[in-house]
Amino acid sequence: MEPKDSTENEAYKGFTNSACPFMPCHRGITREFNCLFCYCPLIAYECPGPYTVFTDPRGMRRKDCSDCTLPHDGYRQSWHFIQKWLERPVLWDGHEQTRYRVARPEDAQPEP
Ligand code: SF4
Repeated sequence: MEPKDSTENEAYKGFTNSACPFMPCHRGITREFNCLFCYCPLIAYECPGPYTVFTDPRGMRRKDCSDCTLPHDGYRQSWHFIQKWLERPVLWDGHEQTRYRVARPEDAQPEP
């Protein structure tokens, strides 16, 4: 097995579960629908997605990511988006979204 840094096979970057009863869980995606990040790794971190905030019954502030397509839009594009934003993760403190919003994962650059 080749390490992922040296292989040209990019199959690990995404897959589509066409049998999922929730498909399509997010609308407006025209490239491959990436199900790999069904539970977004950025849920606890700062991110550029168009989330809204709600308070759960226990009083915890949580993100509602219903309108976000960034982790799903294209296998390669969403893979690189998640890797880029996990390089220097910043814990999310429950605030409303104030970062710029972008429509495509490849356009979402973390702040330097
Ligand atoms: S808004 Fe998008 S990028 Fe941010 S945590 Fe939710 S699904 Fe992930």
